[in-house]
Amino acid sequence: MVHSLYSNKEIFLRELISNASDAAEKLRFEALEKSELYEGDSELTIRISFDKDAKTVTIEDNGIGMSRDEVIDHLGTIAKSGTASFLSNLTGDQSKDSQLIGQFGVGFYSAFIVADQVDVFTRRAGAAITDAVHWSSRGEGEFTIASTEKAGRGTRIVLHLKEGEEEFADSWRLRSLVRKYSDHIAFPVLMLKEALPSDDEEAKEEKAAPEYEAVNSATALWTRSKGDVKDEEYQEFYKHVSHDYADPLTWAHNKVEGSLEYTSLLYVPERAPFDLWNREAPRGLKLYVQRVFIMDQADQFLPLYLRFIKGVVDSNNLSLNVSREILQKDPSVDKLRSALTKRVLDMLSKLAKDSDKYTTFWKEFGQVLKEGPAEDYANKEKNTQVAAFCVYPYG
Ligand code: ADP
Repeated sequence: MVHSLYSNKEIFLRELISNASDAAEKLRFEALEKSELYEGDSELTIRISFDKDAKTVTIEDNGIGMSRDEVIDHLGTIAKSGTASFLSNLTGDQSKDSQLIGQFGVGFYSAFIVADQVDVFTRRAGAAITDAVHWSSRGEGEFTIASTEKAGRGTRIVLHLKEGEEEFADSWRLRSLVRKYSDHIAFPVLMLKEALPSDDEEAKEEKAAPEYEAVNSATALWTRSKGDVKDEEYQEFYKHVSHDYADPLTWAHNKVEGSLEYTSLLYVPERAPFDLWNREAPRGLKLYVQRVFIMDQADQFLPLYLRFIKGVVDSNNLSLNVSREILQKDPSVDKLRSALTKRVLDMLSKLAKDSDKYTTFWKEFGQVLKEGPAEDYANKEKNTQVAAFCVYPYG
């Protein structure tokens, strides 16, 4: 796993695009009630550009952006925890290292795998142009933060590539990485058609409006039909929704129409998170209503003993202005919860047919599953099904 962190340096792009996509979804959600947040620009995109001479790669979104406090909270802690010490603490011992990565996550952090300096320019949607923030760090435990101006809302991340990593400032390379890792991103990922010359001012001016073209298919993955989605795409999507670094053990993708309408894409991780036994730890699915992102960690849709399941539920039975409070009272939620629980148990019965995979699963999650019969006592039929899982079949 960690080994592949180094052999797969390229994952930094996937992580940053994943964050940019989250930021675009958050903006779309907030704009449901406050359309002025769009500032006249509701076409949400992620732009990637590069400069061979300056040895930079830039990832830019027009999503929600960050306020100064958010920058300090979200990026500051990462810099403080010290990328350099993090990277040097990696021992090569898989289980130790994966715990470390599990704790810190790779996320934004992964930028420092290829960059020795990262500059973030960001402005929260709705904030004044003069209220933008410039954060800069060399990933060695310190960062600077300054006020700046930024016309467009959202976040621009400039990676100053390390010596030896210049290959990433290349159109073909970046394009193929977007296709490989980020095709499932539901917003257009636009690539600069060609590099801007960095030293020829005249030429730069002529190219004042650089041309970008979309490189991904830009459709929400779960809305596609099963037959059209490759395993690799399901796996990449998992990493995007779960912020996990490893591939999932298995998944189930279902589209249901009728009085209860939903699409679910549910995953079983390969490893338990470090906070599995903390019952207060955030858990739950990503909730979408009619393809619009509503919230992360919607924990109403699965019982506690299935808290390790990751994924997405998109339902037409809920309204777009649903909140956590409303969710608690909405009768569709109970129906969805019941349906999704059954989906998970069905997925586990299929998994149980593969003794290797099931053994992995059992080692990680068997104990949690044993909470099931007690928790799900209301549902006799499911209870029996859950109870059946509480006996390891290969022991
Ligand atoms: P994670 O995405 O797993 O939460 P990251 O380290 O990747 O962790 O990012 C930390 C936080 O920084 C995010 O949760 C988000 O709040 C914020 N963030 C990162 N990138 C962006 C972005 N492009 N736009 C807005 N916020 C961002």
